This record gives sequence, structure tokens and C-alpha cells, in this order.
Amino acid sequence: MDLVAEGIRRIAAPIPYPMKYVNLYLLEGDGLVLVDSALDTTTARTAIEEGLADRGAAPGDLDAVVLTHHHPDHYGLAGWFEDAGVPVYMLDVAIERDHAWWSRFEPWLEQSSAHFREHGMPEAFIADLREVMEATRRRIRPPRAPLALTVGQTVELAGRRYAVHWTPGHADGHLVLLREDGVLIAGDAILDRITPNVGKWVGSRPDPLGDFLNSLKRLRELEPERALVGHYGPAIEDVPARIAEIERHHEERLRELERALAAGPRTAWELSLVLFPQTGLSTAQRRFAWAETLAHLVHMEGLGRVRRLPEAPVRYELVA
Ligand SMILES: [Zn+2]
Repeated sequence: MDLVAEGIRRIAAPIPYPMKYVNLYLLEGDGLVLVDSALDTTTARTAIEEGLADRGAAPGDLDAVVLTHHHPDHYGLAGWFEDAGVPVYMLDVAIERDHAWWSRFEPWLEQSSAHFREHGMPEAFIADLREVMEATRRRIRPPRAPLALTVGQTVELAGRRYAVHWTPGHADGHLVLLREDGVLIAGDAILDRITPNVGKWVGSRPDPLGDFLNSLKRLRELEPERALVGHYGPAIEDVPARIAEIERHHEERLRELERALAAGPRTAWELSLVLFPQTGLSTAQRRFAWAETLAHLVHMEGLGRVRRLPEAPVRYELVA
């Protein structure tokens, strides 16, 4: 377990995804707080137990668990910590919106399937995806009584003060924590090596890519000295440089979409096959590619660069 900043250690918990690990951050000082929680697998629980034992502690000794967002690899063990008597905190926005993905899974799965269909995903693929999502759900223990953090609040965690900032885009209710000395705990709001997935899911805020680009601006304005991130890293030392790279990536994606649409109207699914031509992507990765493509399309629609044709499935066309 590495010391990644004064009073902050990283527990790299294994996850069954291409990133291989999620970085959990153990804040030590006056008390013990864990940021994020991995997925409910034996290997992840063991990594957490061993990491805590290294500091002479057990899961039940934590004062709190704070979740940056509701994605399975950050949220999946929240209920396990609650069972050990640890309060679990999320942003109020995440409790009101994102938490329902997992706490009210069945209706969410039905709404999601309709949303996939509406945007051109083939039926056979939707059937596969439902199995993947059901398997994911079995590896998640949602918090039963998550407690709310609010935007702009300052919280004391393990004896240090952190400002709570809202960075929607990768997830509607994504939060980051900025310590008084400029250390930012960033979750998946910004990542090295990969760009955070930005998807338009069922029930997402209207323009997740617009939210994400605004969140990048906000992160730049916060002038973090360094960012501790949810995967890879653990630290991004030059945050403004990485933000500029991610912004350029999305500008390029928008141009690629315009080029692909020059051939005529297409669905988000068809366009995702153009934007992400890699063969061998898993079902889950294809779903991310589709959601990312749709997020770019609705952003372009807001900018007046494409329009949505009133058809089922929905096709988008370039505005001349
Ligand atoms: Zn995530």
C-alpha cells in the first residue's frame, strides 16, 4: 500500500475490468476514512482487509466511506461497509439520481433496454447486455442508507478539511474532494492513459458531455497541486496539461462524428461502430462506446450541429 500524499495511502483493489484495479484512498490522521469501495469480489475484499490490517485496522474501524460516484467499481462494496457499522457518504445529487440504478435495478434495466432500442442497438445485443448488467448487479451491495454530502460543503475527514465539489459528466452525481493543501481526490473525473467514459444513459442529465467539459474547466479553476485518480496513476502531476489533452480528444471526436454523418443520417449505434471500429470489444465496452457516441450526438444537437429525426430507432443528421 503506497503513501501517495501526506496522510493518504492507496489501496489498489482488483476489479474484473480492463483497468484491472480501482484506486481506493485511505485517509489517515485523526481517524480513518476510505474514499471509494471496489466491487463485491473476494479478491477486492481481501485487498481492502489486507490494506487496512497493514495500518492495524479492520473495515469496521473506519469512521466513514465516501464514494466519488455510483459506478460498480467504486460503489459495489458500500453495503458491506455499512454492515460493519461504517456510514457511507455520497453527493446528494448521486443519492437522488444515480443510486437508483442499483437500488431500484429492475425498473432501471427495463428503462435502459428501451433506451438502447430507441438508439439503434440490435435486439440480440440488448439481450447479451442485460445478462452482463444482471451479473454486475450480483456483485454490488448498494448502501441502504447513504448519507448526503452537499456541493460546496467543507468536510473534515481524518482530521483534515476537504471541500466537496460537484463534477458531473462521467456520472451525474460525481464528486471530487479538494484538500486545503491542493491535493485533489478526483475519482474518475479525470484520468491518465484513458479518457473517462462520458455516456448518455437513461435518466442522465440532458447533456453529459457538456457537463463533463464544464467540470474540466472547473477542475482547472480549482488549481489542484496534483490529482489522485480512480484508475492507473495514482497521481496526475500536471492537471492542466491532462485537461487540455482530454478536451482535444473530445473536439476530435465531434469532428469525426461530423465526417461520419456527411454520408447521411445514422443511429447512435451505427455511428459507434464507426467511431470505435476495434473488433474484440466486450459487450460492456460496446455499450460504453454506444453511450459515449450518443453523449456526443446530444451535445452536438444542443450546439445546433445535428438534428434528431423523429423516427424509431432515432437517427441523427447533420445540420447544413
Ligand atoms: Zn466511473
